[in-house]
Amino acid sequence: MEESLRRWSWVNIDLSAVRHNVREARKLIPRSTRLLAVVKADAYGHGAVKVAEAALSAGADHLGVATVSEGIELRRAQIGAPILILSQPPASAIPLLLAYNIMPSVYESEFAVQYGEMADAHGMEAPFHLAVNSGMNRIGVRYDEVVPFMMQIGFHRALKLAGVFTHFATADAPEPFEFDVQAHRFEESIAALRQMGVDPGIVHAANSAATVRYPGVHYDMVRWGICMYGFHPCPETRLRVALKPVMSVHARITDARLVPMSEGVSYGFNYRSPGSVKICTLPIGYADGLVRGLSGRIDFLLKGRRFRQVGNICMDQCMFEADMRSFATRTRIDPQVGDEVVIVGEQGDEAVTIDDMAAKLNTISYEVAIGFSHRMPRYYL
Ligand code: PLP
Repeated sequence: MEESLRRWSWVNIDLSAVRHNVREARKLIPRSTRLLAVVKADAYGHGAVKVAEAALSAGADHLGVATVSEGIELRRAQIGAPILILSQPPASAIPLLLAYNIMPSVYESEFAVQYGEMADAHGMEAPFHLAVNSGMNRIGVRYDEVVPFMMQIGFHRALKLAGVFTHFATADAPEPFEFDVQAHRFEESIAALRQMGVDPGIVHAANSAATVRYPGVHYDMVRWGICMYGFHPCPETRLRVALKPVMSVHARITDARLVPMSEGVSYGFNYRSPGSVKICTLPIGYADGLVRGLSGRIDFLLKGRRFRQVGNICMDQCMFEADMRSFATRTRIDPQVGDEVVIVGEQGDEAVTIDDMAAKLNTISYEVAIGFSHRMPRYYL
C-alpha cells in the first residue's frame, strides 16, 4: 500500500502457520484421505487466495467456499483445485458454476434438473456433492429421503455425483450423543445409495473438531476450517493437536498525552483517570472489528507488557492507559507516539488472544476473527 495512504493499524497473517496447521491435520488422517481447506468468508477473515495457496502447498487438495463469488475469486487467482460450495447456490448462478468449474452442494431437485440441463446443453458434465441433513436441520436432503431424491434426479445424464456429505451440529460439544446419531444416520444413507447401485463419490462429514476427536468419521475427506487458522473449537482439541496462531493485529500509537486525576476519557466518560496517567490513542476501533463490547475489558501489549484498554472503543480509535507511577517503579515503559502495540498476538511472555476476546463477548473465535475488517491491510508473512 502507498505510504501516504497507510493507516497505523494492520493485520499480519502468518502463512507458515497455515501450512503448519494443515500438516497437523495431515498427521491425523490416512494418506489416502482427502483434505478440504475451508476458505469461505475470505478464509475466516484471513484472505482467501493466500490461505488457499498456502493450504494447497501443505497438503490440502480441495477448497470449500460459501458463495459462487468466493469460488470465482479463487479461480481468477489461477487456483485449479476442486472447489466445493458448501451450500446450494441460487439457480441463476448455474452458468457461472459451469464457466468456472465450481461444484455446488445440491439438495433441491429443481436446482439439480436445471444444472444438469444447462450442462448438457453445453456438452459439459455437472458435478455436485449431495448434502445430507442428518440432524442439524440447516441444509440438505433428509437422511431417509436420499434414495428417492437420487431416483428423482438420477435420469439427467450430465449430473455427476462427485460426493456426499453431512455436517455435525455438536462435534465440538462435550456430550457426543447426538453426534453418534448423526453419524449413524449419515452412514445409513450412504449404505442405501450403494444398495441402489449409486457410487457416492467422496464421502465426507468431519469439520475441525470431528477431525481431531472422531477418527471414525474421517471417511474419504475431512473439512479443515477453524483449526487451520490456529483456533481450537473445544478444549479437547488442545490436548490432541498443536496449532499455531495465524492472525495477529497491530497498531501504532497516534497520540500520547498526560491526563490528570479524575478526567474522563472517550465517549460517555465511563472511565475516569484514577491518578495521573498517560492516555495513548490507537487508530483501531469497532469499524475495524475491535468490538465495542470489549471496551475496558481487554489489554494490549507494548514492549512485552500488558496495558489496559480504557474508555469506550470508538468507531476508528481507542485508548489505553499507562500509569505513570508504574513506569517509574515497575515497567519503566513510557509509551510514545509511533510505538507498536499488539492488539492480538504475542510479545515476550505475554499473549492477547482472539479466544479471550470471544470468551468476554460470549461468542466464538470464528466471529471475532472474521470481524477484523479489510479497512486494515493484511500483510502476509
Ligand atoms: N463444513 C461445513 C459445511 C461448514 O459449514 C464449516 C464451517 O462452518 C466447516 C466444514 C468448517 O468447520 P470448522 O471451521 O469448525 O472446522
